[in-house]
Amino acid sequence: MGRTVYLNGEYLDEAQAKISIFDRALLFSDALYEVTSVLDGKLIDFKNHMKRLDRSMTELNYPKLLDHKDLELFHRELVKKNNLKEGVVYLQVSRGVAERSFDFPDKKTELTVTAFTQVKDLLQNDAALKGIKVMTIDDMRWKRCDIKTVQLLYPSFAKSSAVEKGFDDAWMVRNGYITEGTSNNAWIIRKGTVITRQFDNLILRGITREAVIECAEELNYKVDFKNFTINEAQSADEAFVTSATTFVTPVIKINKSTIGDGKPGKFTKLLREKYIEKAKKIAI
Ligand code: PMP
Repeated sequence: MGRTVYLNGEYLDEAQAKISIFDRALLFSDALYEVTSVLDGKLIDFKNHMKRLDRSMTELNYPKLLDHKDLELFHRELVKKNNLKEGVVYLQVSRGVAERSFDFPDKKTELTVTAFTQVKDLLQNDAALKGIKVMTIDDMRWKRCDIKTVQLLYPSFAKSSAVEKGFDDAWMVRNGYITEGTSNNAWIIRKGTVITRQFDNLILRGITREAVIECAEELNYKVDFKNFTINEAQSADEAFVTSATTFVTPVIKINKSTIGDGKPGKFTKLLREKYIEKAKKIAI
């Protein structure tokens, strides 16, 4: 018996969960996803993840939205059935099964809803303790990065290129400015000001980003939402990334430049602590 996973209303052993080869997720990456972290068996910021899912579905004309109560129920059930204490729940919603055709099917399809758990050390891990090294790479994704689709081949390629070159991740660059990491939002701190790119169609509005903005304000840090260049990032006092799976993770090197003294920054560490405190408080 492997994990218990969720497929369209059923809980199945992972080996038994099967979907059609005509599913639009497979043929067109016509699917959306959310990753909710789990601490002490509780879901972090679940409601905001589901609100973002609604938005993604609306932006791509999905035939209907999903019921949040139902979503919460099967998320909790998966956590329970898999005895998950620390890790994530991955949720995916595809437009469903239809004859292969580029235009969205006019007949209403049944959405394909799948979810599974993954065990992950969110609190204690090497990246959080020592920081990560990132390289920069051209951002060659489509221009609707604000929608959380499973169209992830370019970020996957970018991350693999980074790992091949001895880095941990890549920060993507468009028109001379950093947009975001392959699966996280990018931040720098310069002269006491915390800087992250303004929200637009070129980045994902991270749920963790939103919570960290609040944490920064609670710590009386000045927060600026603006574009920053590779040079500005390389000469920053501190740098970090945020996401549901990394929380706040320090960046200690960008390309060949060491950030600060090459150790996780002081403000970054405080932000991580504050975020974890907040995450635990709002967990359900
Ligand atoms: N940007 C991208 C491209 C991502 O894939 C993610 C993680 N899914 C994020 C930012 C961070 O979003 P969140 O904080 O909601 O995990």
